[in-house]
Amino acid sequence: MQNSSPIKCCSDANLPIEKCDYRPIMSQKNWEVFPGRNKFYCDGRIIMSRSNCVFAMTVILIIGTTGLFFAFDCPYLSEKVTLAIPIVGGLLFLFVMGTLLRTAFSDPGIIPRAQADEAAYIEKSLAPQTMEPGVYRPPARQMDVEVKGQIIKLKYCFTCKIFRPPRASHCSMCDNCVERFDHHCPWVGNCVGKRNYRYFYLFLVSLSIHCIFILGCVIAHLVLLSKELSFLDALKETPTSALVFIISFFSVWSVAGLAGFHTYLVSSNLTTNEDIKGTWAAKRGEKNENPYSEGSLFGNCCRVICGPVHPSLIRRRDPVIPEAEKNDVNNKTNNTSTAISIPDVPPTPPIIHDIDTESLQSQSAPILGNRTSISSDTFHDESENGLLKLSSV
Ligand SMILES: [Zn+2]
Ligand SMILES: [Zn+2]
Repeated sequence: MQNSSPIKCCSDANLPIEKCDYRPIMSQKNWEVFPGRNKFYCDGRIIMSRSNCVFAMTVILIIGTTGLFFAFDCPYLSEKVTLAIPIVGGLLFLFVMGTLLRTAFSDPGIIPRAQADEAAYIEKSLAPQTMEPGVYRPPARQMDVEVKGQIIKLKYCFTCKIFRPPRASHCSMCDNCVERFDHHCPWVGNCVGKRNYRYFYLFLVSLSIHCIFILGCVIAHLVLLSKELSFLDALKETPTSALVFIISFFSVWSVAGLAGFHTYLVSSNLTTNEDIKGTWAAKRGEKNENPYSEGSLFGNCCRVICGPVHPSLIRRRDPVIPEAEKNDVNNKTNNTSTAISIPDVPPTPPIIHDIDTESLQSQSAPILGNRTSISSDTFHDESENGLLKLSSV
């Protein structure tokens, strides 16, 4: 099979054959042929959005400010006040950088796009059954699912060719559908979604504490120095403290404000996207409760911060499986003539990549059809009767 795989051709015909990039597709990894606008580093281990200049600015700002603080304030404070100041500052800095890099470099919860046969299957399944000859009626582009008694509309993504699971949205910057999409954050150079939201939240909280800590220490440094000298002389003695003070003072308001806003979202199990769109706001006087809320502040916080970390669905470091080989697998498992050939009857429910992990479970397995790329953890049903109701609208 491997011998008959198509090969990647060298773009420069003048290069000697041994220098050409003749690699069988089997030796390529999924990240090398990834259709979205993401950038990959370290052989696909790191995934980021295409534009990460603002992320570089975030890193420089944090490292620069903390570096100035350690170089010019910490020696004085550790001698005059306590040695705990540089230790606490160092630990906070490490935690901030750890959560920042984890948010920036990880898969936020990208949903793989449908393969050509899957997209064709969806189109076929959704096409009106009683179509008059010569009359084209576009298939329905919405579906309803029921989550805890709440009807949620699943929208069809024309780019990814899938029905987006509840809470998912297509990021225009990264060109991917992301599970439990919160927002695209240029400051961390990545989407914030189901797989990295907790690290993003911890980053905001720890950065707020770090800013307040540095601000307090710098003020203490200037006050103590002013007692020995005049205030102006103290500023002349340590001008970098004044600079660190200005940076921290202006940063702390925005960072702490954002941390406060996300604390409200975490305690309500909401996403920024849902909050802005008012997804769960009462409509026309009718009650419209968030079905994902645990019902208590503590339950929601535990769910978002301490819930299980779901595996990445894009399997970016796995080898690329040639289309022909996928079709072989599909044919064996589905007993159809070719992967593009769609069974006429009976119309099985349309393929959905994966319904939100927080809402539905094994009852929904049949809607997957012959997909093999969905991880087993993607279906959980929190609805009372475990019922998935799907109907085209
Ligand atoms: Zn999409
Ligand atoms: Zn994005």
